[in-house]
Amino acid sequence: MADYRLGIDLGGTKIEIVALDREGREVLKQRVPTPHGDYEKTVLAVRDIVLDAESKLGCIPGSRVAAGQASSTLGIGCPGSIVPQTGLLDHCNATWLNGKPFDRDIAHALHRPVRMENDANCFALSEAVDGAGMGKSVVFGAIFGTGMGAGIVANGRLLSGLHRLAGEWGHTPLPWLKETDLPLRPCFCGQEGCQERYLCGQALATDWLGEGHVSAKGIAEALLAGDEKAEKAVDLFVDRMARACARMIDFLDPDVIVLGGGVTNLPNLCERVSAKLANHITGGFPCETPIVMNKHGDSSGVRGAAWLWDVQESGACRTPDAAWPAGRFR
Ligand SMILES: [Zn+2]
Repeated sequence: MADYRLGIDLGGTKIEIVALDREGREVLKQRVPTPHGDYEKTVLAVRDIVLDAESKLGCIPGSRVAAGQASSTLGIGCPGSIVPQTGLLDHCNATWLNGKPFDRDIAHALHRPVRMENDANCFALSEAVDGAGMGKSVVFGAIFGTGMGAGIVANGRLLSGLHRLAGEWGHTPLPWLKETDLPLRPCFCGQEGCQERYLCGQALATDWLGEGHVSAKGIAEALLAGDEKAEKAVDLFVDRMARACARMIDFLDPDVIVLGGGVTNLPNLCERVSAKLANHITGGFPCETPIVMNKHGDSSGVRGAAWLWDVQESGACRTPDAAWPAGRFR
């Protein structure tokens, strides 16, 4: 086991790094802006923040460690994923990274293997290892924010899937449609009725204030102040989230569902969704699946990236050792 696990959260606006010690304690955390629109500068910015962190920690990569020096591993989380069939990043909100072999290029730049995963998968892994899902066999980590994503950890192993699509439930249809869900909402993926279009922050804002509002910020205060339109919008949101969770329980039946993302900061959301689950799950018996808020908050993604090297037989994408000795970023 390495002395330090380094995790990177690579987003469209910032690059954050965390270092966990052997006990999982955060011993370093820092961030820099993501160079907008420039692929090579983004690779170099990730390289530099890693080298700077390692310099501060007094460690070097495991393969070159010498007596008296500490070792480290590196995991990276970002929106989207490396498509196994092409080896290229896709569906990343930092769009200038799409179509690029980012994992191999950063491995070249740092002269070592890295592991890279979707950020929702990193969230689920973090919460399964030492967060709100700790000790549970099957953890479903679900994020509701500008979009909707999820990750599945089973018996300590992150499930990535043949196409690295495991847990991607945003673009499946909202189940058990009601009149209030119609007409079906068009989605940027080309389909209509995707549950993400009903359960993202923009959807909540639209249900509350009408078309044109892009943020649900403030709805919790409006709710507490007795705003009737806010209460109605949250009722709709809770009912739709319960339907989405109930269908997921029907086919995965996880031991816990851990919620994350800005939209989940609504008063008593877990309790309200739990109360409606039994209306939909098969069998109609009392549903005991705990729905809980995450433990690590905004740090879950970056902590999960750091844990990618800790999971035995992880499905996480790992650059083959043969891929990194030569490259254009050295
Ligand atoms: Zn869609």
